[in-house]
Amino acid sequence: MFKKILIANRGEIALRVIRAAREMGIQSVAVHSTADSDAMHVRMADEAICVGPPPGTDSYLSMPAIISACEITGAEAIHPGYGFLSENANFVQIVEDHALKFIGPTAEHIRIMGDKITAKETMKNLGVPCVPGSDGGVPDLDEAYKVGDEIGYPVIVKATAGGGGRGMKLANSKAEMENAFRTARSEGKSAFGNDEVYIEKYLGTPRHIEIQVFGDGKGRAVHLGERDCSLQRRHQKVFEEAPGPAIDAKTRAKIGKVCADAVASINYAGAGTIEFLYENDEFYFIEMNTRLQVEHPVTEAIFGVDLVQEQIRVAAGEEMSFQQKDLEVNGHAIEVRINAEKVPAFTPCPGKITQYHAPGGLGVRMDSALYDGYSIPPYYDSLIAKLIVHAADRPTALARLKRALGELIVDGIDTTTPLFDALLQEDAVLTGDYNIHWLEKWLEANTPE
Ligand code: ADP
Repeated sequence: MFKKILIANRGEIALRVIRAAREMGIQSVAVHSTADSDAMHVRMADEAICVGPPPGTDSYLSMPAIISACEITGAEAIHPGYGFLSENANFVQIVEDHALKFIGPTAEHIRIMGDKITAKETMKNLGVPCVPGSDGGVPDLDEAYKVGDEIGYPVIVKATAGGGGRGMKLANSKAEMENAFRTARSEGKSAFGNDEVYIEKYLGTPRHIEIQVFGDGKGRAVHLGERDCSLQRRHQKVFEEAPGPAIDAKTRAKIGKVCADAVASINYAGAGTIEFLYENDEFYFIEMNTRLQVEHPVTEAIFGVDLVQEQIRVAAGEEMSFQQKDLEVNGHAIEVRINAEKVPAFTPCPGKITQYHAPGGLGVRMDSALYDGYSIPPYYDSLIAKLIVHAADRPTALARLKRALGELIVDGIDTTTPLFDALLQEDAVLTGDYNIHWLEKWLEANTPE
């Protein structure tokens, strides 16, 4: 097992990894920008090292600085968390070239899945059901019109390199195709340096269902059921739950096996998530994330596993600690993402926390890097806390979430907690009867002019 690992990330996810490592007797090294000298991950790690100025590109994304930090501190492996360098195949290659271990899948698997066209092709060949659409990239507008006529409008034009909800444009009709095509291309180019796009049938009322998979890199893999992440704003998840309210045990076992077999056959290593849209009892693959997801705690709650420790174990060459037969759903878990943003406009709201109190009690987990007097810097993602609740069933989990939100105090800045207070009054949320468009529509109807 590793003696020391470096965490190439910040915020709650850096803490998450430090905690997992400490329980395993592994020393942790935090890296930080000059804006994060007082951050919790710096305080909690065994060692910390400054890797550059505030902008992410100059610090958390600086490969030479991160590799040097490993060399200076003697860390043997790097956990990337999510975001930043977590899905950068070149980084993985560089890490390996320096005789260090990347805690995650191989560069090749990251590369395949990072390009959505190649990912879709690969999954299709592995027997995973996909959204109907263009066969690979669509080079020009004429071809785009042809595809649109073939699969029928509405369609969605997607940048193959897209992510985080960017590089996607809807065309409701032929008249909207030109604009959607050009916009998706230019967003792909400017945000991801790649203007290749493909086209998919736009599904009207699907749920976002994702399957957690885990592989040992040697041909064995399991699935850990699904998460329903349909409550989204601007294609970004805000509320996630497991199990999915619309998925029964038989459906879970069936799609889970398809996913586990697919990743086993490519010798996938570590945690991965296969994302689907789910409509009329059918699954349609949209993408695979080759890393730990923000919402992984709901899966940990219902299966009683530690996915980060499992990632570390597999990266160190040890056997996985669970098999498919060990994995049984226990109860219901919900996560809400609390952002430093002011509703209803969701404007970023960094600043100094004058008072912080985290909720507690049975079945409550608060993953956050906040503390009293902490100043949230303006340079990074606005996620400041994940509140996760676990209970015997969904109604009890909802009641627990409401109770826990009531205990939370974050003074000095605005957060998105009022959104969750309001959502917990809504029938659709209480009954689990929602799809990926529900929240946008609700926000439109409930936002004052
Ligand atoms: P990203 O990589 O940016 O997260 P995804 O391909 O995972 O992009 O899609 C993100 C979200 O966009 C989905 O969860 C869903 O809400 C919406 N979406 C993606 N593809 C489609 C589609 N074919 N039809 C309808 N909605 C879609």
